[in-house]
Amino acid sequence: MSEGNRDLGERMPYLVQRMRGFGTTIFAEMSALAVATGSINLGQGFPDTDGPPEVVEAAIAAIRAGDNQYPPGIGIASLRAAVAEHQARFWGLDYDADSEILVTAGATEAIATTLLALLEPGDEAVTFEPYYDSYAACIALAGAQRRVVTLRPPEYAFSLDQLRAAITPKTKLVLLNSPHNPTGKVFTRDELTAIASLCVEHDLLAVTDEVYEHLVYDGEHVPIATLPGMRERTVTISSAGKTFSMTGWKTGWACAPAPLIEAVRTVKQFMTYVHGAPFQHAAAAGLRLPDEYFAGLAADLAAKRDLLASGLADAGFTVYPPSGTYFVTADIRAFGETDGLAFCRSLPERCGVVAVPTVVFYDDVDAGAPLVRFTFCKRREVLEEAVVRLKSLGR
Ligand code: PMP
Ligand code: GLN
Repeated sequence: MSEGNRDLGERMPYLVQRMRGFGTTIFAEMSALAVATGSINLGQGFPDTDGPPEVVEAAIAAIRAGDNQYPPGIGIASLRAAVAEHQARFWGLDYDADSEILVTAGATEAIATTLLALLEPGDEAVTFEPYYDSYAACIALAGAQRRVVTLRPPEYAFSLDQLRAAITPKTKLVLLNSPHNPTGKVFTRDELTAIASLCVEHDLLAVTDEVYEHLVYDGEHVPIATLPGMRERTVTISSAGKTFSMTGWKTGWACAPAPLIEAVRTVKQFMTYVHGAPFQHAAAAGLRLPDEYFAGLAADLAAKRDLLASGLADAGFTVYPPSGTYFVTADIRAFGETDGLAFCRSLPERCGVVAVPTVVFYDDVDAGAPLVRFTFCKRREVLEEAVVRLKSLGR
């Protein structure tokens, strides 16, 4: 490092110091590996076909109609109304479209701005591991600490005692994700009721990431905001990416009581300010699609889950079939291997498939070491070919 750079290093704000160790996201690393090796990418979760044509046409129509300038800071009225209608239609939740809904640049920005708005240095946030990578990063950005509760296969159940022990006088919020990435777990009503009771007992906020709310195959999706005492303390986050198979459009939203939304909006206005006016129109059109669309999406993905889960089992993995999301996790120990990160880095060369090592989403690395995640949001023929390739592994 040159003298000049060293000086720069010393002058790095403590924010950058706090982010040390987060490196490049595993999704970027694994997608780059897939491109470099020409492998089938079952790593980063993005579909290989577009979402519904009505949604595509709504974006094009908005561009042609001249909706190309800054939208309002809280999001266009039509999308906020559509989110409110959606929360009522699917989950029986009532939100005021003008004061209780905020449109964001994907769920990612909603998560970041919510955590920055609600957490102060010294606060603690309780979350479940494996955790989606941006949770740990954003808690660190806020200067807060995470306390994690481990989800353990085969059910990815957690210990209520561990959850109770994770709550301290410094705990500000519980950060939840159901349906859960990377495990595919759909938290049960009983589990959510137990979490909600602790939130009420300790007067904690809840931040809930429900981007996979429509990708549920077994059981039911229960938004934690629907449970007693929770609506007033919960920020519910979702986005158009998964529900409409347009992960690059980055249109998300947060629903919460007005004072919480106001806090999140205050931070959000200095992050992206606003984004993606035409895509906001398109997301509004998507949210208003008939029930058959949502049911069809889940049915298609359920069949793909079955295809990939049984293919992985035939290939020799120990598979933990998911109840939701478009991810399936598997244990590699049956191959005599224990290091998921090394396994995923070598997989393209060994059989031309990319997966994600879930150990990077754990603090307890022993718990996550042998687990890897595959996505099944790909065309059937791509999944079939991936299974053929993976079956060559054991040979
Ligand atoms: N939360 C979870 C659990 C996710 O898997 C993802 C991945 N897209 C996101 C949030 C981010 O959503 P978006 O693309 O809308 O920012
Ligand atoms: N949500 C996607 C996944 O879990 C990745 C999104 C991203 O790359 N940040 O695979």
